[in-house]
Amino acid sequence: MSTFQDLGLQDHLLQAITDLGFETPSEVQEKAIPVLLTEERDLVALAQTGTGKTAAFGFPMLQNIDVDSRTTQGLILSPTRELCLQITNELKQYGKYCKGLNVTAIYGGASITDQAKQVKKGAQIVVATPGRMKDMISRNMVDISKIQYSVLDEADEMLNMGFYEDITDILSHTPEDKSTWLFSATMPKEVATIAKKFMFNPIEITVGHKNVGSKNVSHEFYLVNSRDRYLALKRLADANPNIFSVVFCRTKRDTQKVAEKLIEDGYNAGALHGDLSQNQRDLVMKSFRNKQIQMLVATDVAARGIDVDDITHVINYQLPDEIETYTHRSGRTGRAGKTGVSMVIVSKSELRKIKSIERIIKKQFEQKEIPSGMEICQVQLMSLANKVHDTEINHEIDKYLESINELFEDTSKDELIKKFFSVEFSRFYNYYQKAKDLNIEAKHSSSRDGERSGSSTRYFINVGRKDGYDWMSLKDFLKAVLELGRDDVFKVDVKDSFSFFNTEKEHEQKVLDFFTDFKYNGRFVNVEVSTDRGGGSRNRKKGRRNDKRNRKGGNRSDRSRSEVRTSKGSSRPRRSRRR
Ligand code: ADP
Ligand code: MG
Repeated sequence: MSTFQDLGLQDHLLQAITDLGFETPSEVQEKAIPVLLTEERDLVALAQTGTGKTAAFGFPMLQNIDVDSRTTQGLILSPTRELCLQITNELKQYGKYCKGLNVTAIYGGASITDQAKQVKKGAQIVVATPGRMKDMISRNMVDISKIQYSVLDEADEMLNMGFYEDITDILSHTPEDKSTWLFSATMPKEVATIAKKFMFNPIEITVGHKNVGSKNVSHEFYLVNSRDRYLALKRLADANPNIFSVVFCRTKRDTQKVAEKLIEDGYNAGALHGDLSQNQRDLVMKSFRNKQIQMLVATDVAARGIDVDDITHVINYQLPDEIETYTHRSGRTGRAGKTGVSMVIVSKSELRKIKSIERIIKKQFEQKEIPSGMEICQVQLMSLANKVHDTEINHEIDKYLESINELFEDTSKDELIKKFFSVEFSRFYNYYQKAKDLNIEAKHSSSRDGERSGSSTRYFINVGRKDGYDWMSLKDFLKAVLELGRDDVFKVDVKDSFSFFNTEKEHEQKVLDFFTDFKYNGRFVNVEVSTDRGGGSRNRKKGRRNDKRNRKGGNRSDRSRSEVRTSKGSSRPRRSRRR
């Protein structure tokens, strides 16, 4: 194994490395740094998250640029604002002894003129998100016509996010003879295409197996009913009192909702997603880094590449749509030689996804049981006991001790301990004493295949043939707006002025939430849970009757009441809706 000295780095960079506490280069650094320092060549590096890619391109770039010049010489493109700031900070630390170094971050959601000013001051290195970069180029706020190094960091994610055109556009403003360094955790077709198109005979570096997660992470799944997802999350948190975790949800909406519920329920939680302002996101990240937030609920995009040490658990509240994303999620934990746990809360219909993930990460999941209420009480009690045991005495208390002692004069030590712990224990006990078992049996792991189980929801929607839909086009429309997969919307029954369709029960909340206040072509599209089971002859007759009625120009109120279960009599929690 080599040392940083062996890689050929200059003294002032080595000094910064010592300050940072890096002892030996990581594999990607060991392979990339010497080449990038000595050869003006393109490079493609594949390495999982947390392997030190920033330093792998950062140090060579810092050593190769001319800090006495004020020309922009290096451009680093990264997918998100958070990542952009993180790389900028990291580079500033690496280059803390480079006198005159100016690294500027360019990203959306903050003042463009301020950023332009920063660049004008003579930024040798610009770290940017593609959207804002393109914007600034078109306004002549930044000149990248003389750059010598361009880095595409987290290239797979940038392409996932649809930045292909932006990247192409940006690179067309850069000189032909620059070097391009592409870093990615995975190598999907799109990344290979970019490499082919923009790079000349690149050196290829692969660290570890492609797409394989960290060795230090163990993977667990918990099988529950979809409607118990949130309760399961709470239990997992309660069963791990010192949890410091990222909780991944699929949509911004779910992210916000889960975080809000957790906060309401007394957890130190925060949300991180793209609908928050830059300022809000910065605040959340700051609290998370300071560990004031124990559970950061985040979307994949917002959390991509975020590097916070000591994350104990990654919780997949929902599995990602693309199973490859799972690797990125679980890579948030088990960093810097520590161990971590990646937990997945799954419903039966998602079980086969677990199998696919196992193939990708080349590791087995362990099926675990959601802890029972009493187990949690015990864990909490012992955690408190340990905390009390390890607490250093604060002697400021001494002056109040006399009156406290007086109060407990007749209480034995035994009794005192019991009373003391009851304070905390009762809180959990009262909550959990009647808690049900959330675990369910997996009978057939492939219940999705073949006939659907009874766990689907039938909906009424107030658009139909009159609006130009047939079952196929309505299905396509629903899949698109709800961002659901190919088979997730089924039994689509289009009537004249309304229709029915089904989804798995687990999507019910998502569907209903999405169509709260949803307007299409200038009118409200209303979706409600229907009692029509989609197949029974009685119901079908009813449907036909309604069909006729509606053909006479009837509107929503013409519908037979029995068709629709309104939020009142329904078993699901009420949601607020504006009419
Ligand atoms: P990646 O981009 O591959 O996900 P990062 O560049 O964000 O990884 O690095 C992950 C973490 O490891 C950072 O906190 C970084 O400071 C640290 N790190 C990088 N290189 C080393 C090293 N050689 N020794 C110890 N820590 C390192
Ligand atoms: Mg990185």
